Amino acid sequence: MDMYELLQKDPKVWDIFTLKEEYSSPLRDQYDRIPCHASSNRNIFEPSVSKYLIDQGLHAEYPEDKPFAVCLTHDIDVVYTSLVPKVVSSVGHLKQGSISEFMRSVAQMRSKKRPLWNFNDILKLEEQYDAKSSFYFMAENSGERDYAYEIEDLEPVLGDIVDRGSEIGLHGGHTSYFHTEELKSKKKRIEKLLNNNISGYRNHYLRFNVPETWEYLHAAGFLYDTTIGYADCIGFRNGMCHPFKPFNLRSGKPLEILEIPLIIMEDTFERYMGLDTRRAWEMSKKLIDTVMQYNGVLTLLWHNYSFTGDKRKFYEKILTYCAEKQAWMTSGEHILSWWKHHVRI
Ligand SMILES: [Zn+2]
Repeated sequence: MDMYELLQKDPKVWDIFTLKEEYSSPLRDQYDRIPCHASSNRNIFEPSVSKYLIDQGLHAEYPEDKPFAVCLTHDIDVVYTSLVPKVVSSVGHLKQGSISEFMRSVAQMRSKKRPLWNFNDILKLEEQYDAKSSFYFMAENSGERDYAYEIEDLEPVLGDIVDRGSEIGLHGGHTSYFHTEELKSKKKRIEKLLNNNISGYRNHYLRFNVPETWEYLHAAGFLYDTTIGYADCIGFRNGMCHPFKPFNLRSGKPLEILEIPLIIMEDTFERYMGLDTRRAWEMSKKLIDTVMQYNGVLTLLWHNYSFTGDKRKFYEKILTYCAEKQAWMTSGEHILSWWKHHVRI
């Protein structure tokens, strides 16, 4: 019996696993997302589907007999705090008299630091824990919503990340999740810089349509996605704390892509759940312990703008705790290649 047949034996489990309610739900926010509070699954902090599969014999193992994995990820929405690139790109529109004013503002902006050009800092921090991670970069074009950088300007950074054993993937923009062609062309832009294929994906704002986005990602050549988590609540959106191949209820077939479900995004705590640091830590610890109990994969999203002050400390605290628990802390592509050969049901 395969995994899908097992899951279908319990209709409740099957519905949560397949995210059936999302196929027809009109309860969407301004970003076309189904919020956690609109879901009928009120058991968001328990990986009920993973638990069911483990009871049925699912077995996941990790390198060096580590009990669970942590997939460390960073979405790169912004890389400049200075506005120089944007101002420079608009110089063509300036009237004659504004040139000196323009030059003054450029000089001012150049003097500012760029604390978000912090990839080396993030890598150094993770290297202390012998961890690897995934960096999902945007490849937006000027004029697209939330365009903040030219990916070509970051070529040396991308090379350094790959040389140090971490991963580059695509962070698709506001319209990528329903556009195969857009996914393809943005993927190609990054691959050209790396001179290599990329396999991983997460959409900006966690925008995603079940099941179509998986189909589009597969058609564009992605091997895994890690968007499936709720923006407004941490936890297990489809009851899974293990990577899985999704099932398309429309076609009645499995989808040829791996989903590494997102469990914790750092912005969720304060912005959506209203949790202070102490409570956020208690909840994180509980989820880490839960994922460890089920030998799962805890996927963590920490944006590159969250590496100062309390948020940086929080990230370090998670890494320290997971290291103490002997977690395998690594990137999505490593999870992907490991998963194919070391999980059985
Ligand atoms: Zn984003």
